[in-house]
Amino acid sequence: MSEQRTDALGGPVTRTYAAIELDAVRDSVTALVNRAGPAATMAVVKADGYGHGLLPCARAALDGGASWLGTAFLEEALALRAAGITVPVLCWLITPDEQADAAIAADIDLSASAPWALRQIAAAARRVGRRARVHLKADTGLGRAGATPADWPDLCDDAARLQAEGVIEAYGVWSHLAFADAPGHPTVQTQIGAFRDAVDLADKAGLTPTVRHLANSAATLVSPQAHFDLVRPGVSVYGLSPGPEVGPPARFGLRPAMTLVSHAALVKRVPAGTGVSYAHRYTTDQPTTLALVPLGYADGIPRAATNRGEVLFGGSRRRIAGTVCMDQFVLDVGDDQVSPGDEVILFGPGDRGEPTADDWAVVAGTINYEIVSRIGARVPRVYR
Ligand SMILES: *Cc1c(COP(=O)(O)O)cnc(C)c1O
Repeated sequence: MSEQRTDALGGPVTRTYAAIELDAVRDSVTALVNRAGPAATMAVVKADGYGHGLLPCARAALDGGASWLGTAFLEEALALRAAGITVPVLCWLITPDEQADAAIAADIDLSASAPWALRQIAAAARRVGRRARVHLKADTGLGRAGATPADWPDLCDDAARLQAEGVIEAYGVWSHLAFADAPGHPTVQTQIGAFRDAVDLADKAGLTPTVRHLANSAATLVSPQAHFDLVRPGVSVYGLSPGPEVGPPARFGLRPAMTLVSHAALVKRVPAGTGVSYAHRYTTDQPTTLALVPLGYADGIPRAATNRGEVLFGGSRRRIAGTVCMDQFVLDVGDDQVSPGDEVILFGPGDRGEPTADDWAVVAGTINYEIVSRIGARVPRVYR
C-alpha cells in the first residue's frame, strides 16, 4: 500500500483536493470582457474567489482581461495589494468600527451608502493625508445596501462638499440588481431607470462620477442595457452560470473552474439489511459493497445531500447512501469492483460524466454559488 500512486493531475494522491483550472477562469473572464465591451470588467473575487482561491483567481482574471477587482471586505482587498496587484480595487462592505486608513493608503476604492460612512472615510483620508476614492451606492430596489431615493440627495450633497474640500473623490455611482438572474423580470428595467435617476441627481449635486456600474454576472450576460461603464461579474468569473434561467455556462463561453476530487478511504462487503451511517437513513437491500468518502459537511458537502447527492465513482454516477456526516459519507456500489484509494469526483465541469455544482445546488435546495464558496479550509486547492 505504500507504493506511490499518481492522481488525475499527475501529482501524488492526496485524500481530497479541489482542482482549480486557472485557464477556465482566464477564458471565462475573456468571454465576459467581450460581452461587456465597451464597458470595463471588474472581476469579483470576494469570499476567497468564491472558494476558488483569491490570488490565483485574481491573477487569472486579470490575464483574461479584467481591469478591476471587487471584494466585499477590507482584508480581501488588502490581500490583493499585499500580493502586489495594482489594478483598481473596489471594496464595498466596511462597518463603523473598521478603520479605512489602510485601504486609503493602499489606493483601494471604498463604497459609501450613508453620510456616516462618508464621514468615516473622510476622517481616515485626513489622517492618511490622501484623497479617498469613493463609489456612492444607491438602493435602486434591491433593498440591501445603498441609500434610498429619499436619502440619496443628502448623500450626494455631503460627497460634493467633501470633494470640494479635496478629501474624497466621488469616483463612482453604483447599485445592484435584485432579479438579474430572471431575464425579463420587470424590476430589471425599473432598477435601470432608478439608477439613471440617481446618476442624474449626482450630476445635479455637482458630482461627475467617472464610472457608473450596476451589472452582476447575470446582467453582464443577458442585460446589456445594464452595462454602463463597468460590469461586476462574480460567479461567472469561475465559469458558472448565475442561474438556470440565464442558461448553461457553455452558452456564454464559460467553463466551470473547480473540480472537487476525493478518494475512497475504505471499501467493504456488507450483508443485506445493513443500516448505513447515522440514524440508518439508508439500509442495504442486498449483499453489497460500501465505500467511504472522506468528505463531509465540515468541508462544505451539504447535509441536505443525505440520500440524494451524486458523485462519479468507479466509472458510474452513485448516490450518497445515508446521512452526510461531518467528515465522511458512504456510497453503495453494489457488486462493482472498487478499491480503497479509487478516485471520487463530486463535481466539476461535467464533461467526464461527473455531476456539476449546479446539480449539487438542486439537490441541496440552494445555488451553485453556495456549493463552491462553502468548500472548506480542509480541502486544498490545487492549481493547474
Ligand atoms: C457578489 C456581488 C457581485 C457579483 O455577483 P454575481 O452574481 O456573483 O455576479 C456584484 N456586486 C455586488 C455588490 C456583489 O455583492
